[in-house]
Amino acid sequence: VQQIARERLVQEAQFEWRQQDTGLSLLSGIHLALQRDEFYLEYQPQFDSRTGALVGAEALMRWRHPALGVIPPTVFIREAENAGLIQALGQWALRETISAWKQLQELLDQPLRMAVNVSFPEIADPFYAQQVLGLLDQLGMPPQFLELELTETAMIRDTSVSLLNLRQLKAAGVHIVLDDFGTGFSSLSHLNDLPLTGIKLDRAFVSPLPDHGPQNHIVTTMLDLANRLQLETTAEGVEDIACLEEIRRLGCDRIQGYIYARPLALGELISQAKSGFPQ
Ligand code: C2E
Ligand code: CA
Ligand code: CA
Ligand code: CA
Repeated sequence: VQQIARERLVQEAQFEWRQQDTGLSLLSGIHLALQRDEFYLEYQPQFDSRTGALVGAEALMRWRHPALGVIPPTVFIREAENAGLIQALGQWALRETISAWKQLQELLDQPLRMAVNVSFPEIADPFYAQQVLGLLDQLGMPPQFLELELTETAMIRDTSVSLLNLRQLKAAGVHIVLDDFGTGFSSLSHLNDLPLTGIKLDRAFVSPLPDHGPQNHIVTTMLDLANRLQLETTAEGVEDIACLEEIRRLGCDRIQGYIYARPLALGELISQAKSGFPQ
């Protein structure tokens, strides 16, 4: 029995060690990957729900790993946050998005609004707003064409520093959106406390529509509340025509989802924008 117990202890210790080891190699991997240019962005278009016009795009990060292939952000963003690397990644994504905006702006009649996902450690930096506004100014993109998407988990830990950053950015014209709205907790108090310009309904609420029961009531109520607070509304995860019709009927302002397009390489976005998305 003692022998078995000892073997198990050794096995557990080895397992833990291996876990730490893979954690560590993923982290040093992120650091190296930034230097080696292995990250890239895809852009998922957003449409005006009334006119069907292309109005914006959300930048979504991907990691082209030399051995593992394309790693989705759900796998590495948390690691990057914990390792203190998300600021560097975030700055990179912002520069990249601004450059994409400039390319799109030269080709399209209407400039798009580019949405970028932001993590809590980024807005907790006292110089964040200054850095973002500085970069926009330096690279020549007016603030009203930038939208920052923040999740509720990022907001729950709000501090005076992050609030000051968001107020400064909003005052300069940057759009501030509460992402994954309704999936976290204390959403309603956030609507009151934070300097928001809009909310984004998570696809967990949107994709099941049309639904003649609770889902429909929940979405209707969220949209009604946002309208009363004069917040712009975006629905993500619109996958089929029935869902699109329902979300339009309920009065959501902007639509994003596979029914129009998956996240696209910049080149694909440009060529589809020129030839016209299906309406
Ligand atoms: P999110 O902000 O909620 O992004 C929406 C996710 O839903 C994206 O997954 C997108 O590809 C997916 N999606 C969009 N439309 C549809 C649809 O119609 N059906 C389905 N089934 N899915 C759809 P993705 O690209 O894997 O991103 C996952 C999450 O990673 C994002 O969730 C966001 O929280 C985070 N993320 C992505 N890029 C960044 C970044 O640059 N910085 C930070 N901090 N987080 C990022
Ligand atoms: Ca988002
Ligand atoms: Ca979401
Ligand atoms: Ca509205």
